[in-house]
Amino acid sequence: MTSKIYQLVIVGYGGMGSYHAKLLKDVQNINVIGTFDIQEEKRVASLADGYKAYDSLADVLSDATVDFVLIATPNDVHKDIAIAALQAKKHVICEKPVTIKSNDLKEIMYVADANNRQFIVHQNRRWDEDFLTVKKIYDDNIIGNAFHFESRVQGANGIPGDWRHLKAQGGGMLLDWGVHLLDQLLFMVDSKISSVYSNLSFVLGDEVDDGFQSIITFENGITALIEVGTTNFIQLPRWYVKGTTGTAIINDWNLNGKIITQNFGVEIEAPKPIQAGKGLTKTMAPPSETAISISPLPSFDATMESFYSNVVSVVEGKAVPIVKNEEVLRVLRLIETIFVSAERNEVIKNFDSLIAIAE
Ligand code: NAD
Repeated sequence: MTSKIYQLVIVGYGGMGSYHAKLLKDVQNINVIGTFDIQEEKRVASLADGYKAYDSLADVLSDATVDFVLIATPNDVHKDIAIAALQAKKHVICEKPVTIKSNDLKEIMYVADANNRQFIVHQNRRWDEDFLTVKKIYDDNIIGNAFHFESRVQGANGIPGDWRHLKAQGGGMLLDWGVHLLDQLLFMVDSKISSVYSNLSFVLGDEVDDGFQSIITFENGITALIEVGTTNFIQLPRWYVKGTTGTAIINDWNLNGKIITQNFGVEIEAPKPIQAGKGLTKTMAPPSETAISISPLPSFDATMESFYSNVVSVVEGKAVPIVKNEEVLRVLRLIETIFVSAERNEVIKNFDSLIAIAE
């Protein structure tokens, strides 16, 4: 039996919309048939790329051949487009951050259920190789029990583009990059969050944050420092992970990094005191060569079904979504809590218990 080919239209043919079109060329059972964008130049680009350019969203939604709508517009219009598309009985793939407010996602989830259509958010960084490597280190206890994660992305180019500078359009780095890093963390660590403390950075003078730092503590004792910056001319490593018997570092998206673990069961030479600055220290001296082993990063588990393939499996009732809407909702609730923590300069405790009461 030949499998069905699903017809997909991309709404918002900017940077990410055209990137999806490129990626979807390699996906066998999804066919991009067209795009809709409010800008004339993007319609011209769509035609030049070989895709029909619809004149309006209504035209897309009334086209019975369209199975999927993929939303890659600025964040403030995701919700209205998603609801209209679901009501027109289309399945929807939506870019992150799915909505600016968590309650808007709840509304979309309700409409998806009511119309018996799938709504799946493109949290693509769950498939990032650096993240999967950290997840492997954590899942397999490669550095003992990993108890502290530092996850950073840092650039030096400020906030890009136009709408990302505007609060009303869901701009700012917490919503833009924070949503990825927080999604990765909550996908990996299966524990309730006990406290959240954050600051936001406004050094560029925009009305939205140009970066942030959040400290998240889980009930199982794991802590995480999540940091996004756009004014970092020198970047810190992408990941720094501490475990009970070792430390892992991943410098970049190309998986440059290493693991250092403590040796056991051998004659271990004590560290020798070193001159450090104007003082002497044994505590901060490097461990002796016999005390540690240096290893390359482990190979990550690459068996997770790809994002688009999973979307098709979900629509066909053959799989559950890898990106579940309840998980995306929890991340949005966490982002809202981070905004509150930063505004009040307060530690917010019992995050998961509070959101459970709110649901
Ligand atoms: P962009 O500005 O490059 O493109 C947005 C496009 O949407 C523009 O062409 C604009 O004309 C069009 N548009 C605006 N309002 C519209 C409407 N009502 N109907 C139809 N088209 C409309 O922005 P971008 O960088 O491509 O970001 C788009 C979305 O993709 C955002 O939600 C962003 O957060 C997300 N994104 C995700 C990733 C990822 O890795 N998952 C990466 C980049 C961007």
